[in-house]
This record gives sequence, structure tokens and C-alpha cells, in this order.
Amino acid sequence: MSVDTQVQRSWFEDVMVPCYNPMEMIPVRGQGSVVWDQQGKEYIDFAGGIAVSCLGHCHPVMVEALMEQANKIWHLSNVMTNEPALRLAKKLTEISFAEKVFFANSGAEANEAALKLARRWAKETHGEEKSEIIAFTQGFHGRTFFTVTVGGQPAYSDGFGPKPGGITHIPYNDLEALKAHLSDKTCAVMMEPLQGEGGVVSPDPEFVQAVRDLCDQHHALLIFDEVQTGNGRTGHFYAYQELGVTPDILSTAKSLGGGFPIGAMLTTTELAQHMKPGVHGSTYGGNPLACAVAEAVVNHISQPSVLQGVAEREQWLKQGLSGLNDKYGLFADIRGKGLLIGAELNDEWKGRARDILVAAGQHGLLLLVAGANVVRFTPSLVITQKEIAQGLEKLDQAIASLV
Ligand SMILES: *Cc1c(COP(=O)(O)O)cnc(C)c1O
Repeated sequence: MSVDTQVQRSWFEDVMVPCYNPMEMIPVRGQGSVVWDQQGKEYIDFAGGIAVSCLGHCHPVMVEALMEQANKIWHLSNVMTNEPALRLAKKLTEISFAEKVFFANSGAEANEAALKLARRWAKETHGEEKSEIIAFTQGFHGRTFFTVTVGGQPAYSDGFGPKPGGITHIPYNDLEALKAHLSDKTCAVMMEPLQGEGGVVSPDPEFVQAVRDLCDQHHALLIFDEVQTGNGRTGHFYAYQELGVTPDILSTAKSLGGGFPIGAMLTTTELAQHMKPGVHGSTYGGNPLACAVAEAVVNHISQPSVLQGVAEREQWLKQGLSGLNDKYGLFADIRGKGLLIGAELNDEWKGRARDILVAAGQHGLLLLVAGANVVRFTPSLVITQKEIAQGLEKLDQAIASLV
């Protein structure tokens, strides 16, 4: 018996805080978009660690960057700066609107920094009154108390006592509601430029433009949460670049480190000056090991060939899904952008997204859901055509087992 098989899934119930409900198998190894569990069973990975493993598992450029930095220096604290952080920040400012970068360790922390910066800016430039944050129902921004409260799913923020105040939620794509609520008291609008967790919902282009215009009119900041959409996921390095609307603050994480924890808040020089020394910080934020891996990931993804390859993979996957829909008639809609794809179940299959995820797991395919009715696909941006075909075949078998 190998060491791997001695670790039992049942330990989870024994020793882990039960805030997750993990699948029965335990993956131990991954290569590209293939993962193997303790028993050596093979899985095709259409989940990509929830839109994180953008180069698949153990991509050589990530492994090389990690090993090289591991032999140099791991951690310094922000009492000093470090080379990988400076190089990564420079690269991020070159490929986006941003002039300044703040590093964190996760999406929630990047958003926490974005919200704190917006509030600080508003107070210093307009006064106490300008504190309202407008966000969207079904939006998701992380699990810290501030970010989960700005997120639009009360089920995630209820039950923890008094919430941070001054937050208003309106429906996504609802222009009238936006006009009715945005005012001179609005400090910032926070939105995902394509709602991920909330069901893979795209914004109407006119809506995004109207958000920008109204923010300008009322001197409010626009914060794009690109934690899920960023780093090539939609086929552009950031989703805003295709929408033609530039935010004032952008948060990024998930695919930024390709599996190594890192997040970042990007903004302008003018806004950044409101975060003077001591105003905000993080022990690990900008850690050299994380930044070295992220630098390699960003350099690789930002190549035109990789970004252009996303659209091609989107086609293969969407065509395969509509083929399965012709065969089984289970999807009401197949939507999303790039490799952030949602397949919404029709009335007959309503509420069965998790059943499909579980059946897929049994047939050797890793999937995600986005709510009870949407099956979500966020594979590696460099998944091969063969891996996509293999995954679709397993999905076919999984669906067949449910009909
Ligand atoms: C995943 C996600 C977050 C939270 O990121 P963590 O790294 O889990 O804190 C925030 N916003 C969006 C849009 C996300 O998809």
C-alpha cells in the first residue's frame, strides 16, 4: 500500500471544518487537463480548479518558475520589496489600464482592498456622505465579511451578526434600477463583467456603458471584479478590454497564479495615492514565490497565440455541448464567453446540475456548477482538442446514466 492510499477520504469528516462537501475521490496528480486519483483513475479536468488552473496542471513554465524561485528566496515581508513582485507589477501595468498594483493572496482580499480604496478615496475627496456601494444580486466577490456582503447572495452573508453598511444591491442588467439608485452619494459600483458564480450571465453591452457613464456623471468609481473573468479566461487578457469600458479599479486572482495563491488590485496613480503607508497591507501580499509563478503565468497567457486559442476551444466545447443537447434535450441555454461557459438546464432537468456533476465524476470528468440549474465549464486555456473530445465523451456517458 502506498502512502497515498493510506490517507482516507473519511478523515475529512473527522478533522476538517465541514464548510465543504468534497467529492469522494482524492486527486493526487495532474498533468495538463488530466488528473489521477489515489486509485489511479483518470479524470478529464473541465473545472480547472474553478477557473484557476489556466495552464492546466504542472505546466513546465510554472514548475520552472517555482523551482527557480524556491532556490533563491521565498519570503521577505513588505518591509522590503522584491524583484518578482516588481517585475509582475510592471507587466500588469503594461497589459492593462492600470498604473499601480497592490498584491494580495486571494480574490476576496483583492476585492477587500478595492472596496477600502474606494471608500478612502471618497472620504478624502468628497467627504463622509459619499459612501454608498452599489452591487448586483447574484454577484460574488469573496467570503470576507465586507466582500460577501457586497456580493448579492444573502445566503452567504446572513447569520454573522451586523453587516457592513452602505451597500445597495440591484438586479444585473437592470438599467432603470441603476438610474434610480446611483447618486452623488454613490462611492463605487462593484460588478463582475460577466457573472460567474451567479450562473454565467453576460452583461448587455449598453448596460456596462451606462454604468460607466452614470459613474462618471456622479463621480463614482467603477470597480470590475475580474477574479474569474481575468487572465485570458474570456479570450482577452481582461474582459473589460473587449467591452470597451475601462474601470477605475480592477481585481484579479484565480488564474493569475495558475494554482499558486495570489490576488491583485489594479488601479490608477491618482487613486493609488490614497493608500499611503500604513493605510492597508498584507503579510504575504507580493510574496516572491507567488509573484514569480504569476509572472511566468502572465507572460505565457498574454501571448497572442494563447489568447486566440481560447476562442477556438470555446467553439469546440460549445459545439460538443449543443451536440449533447441535440441528443438528450437537457439544456435551455449554452452561454458564456471564452472558457467561462454555462449550460443552463431546461425545466425537465431543473435543479439537477449537481446530479450531473456527481455522475460526471463517476465517469471520469471534473465539472462545476453555478447554482442548481447551471453546469459550468472553466477548463485550462491550453486544454487540447483531444482532451475536450475525451471530456465530452465522458459527459455523454454521465448524462446517459441519468436518463
Ligand atoms: C472566486 C471569486 C472571488 C473570490 O476569490 P477567492 O480567491 O476565493 O477569495 C471573488 N470574485 C469572483 C468574481 C470570483 O469568481
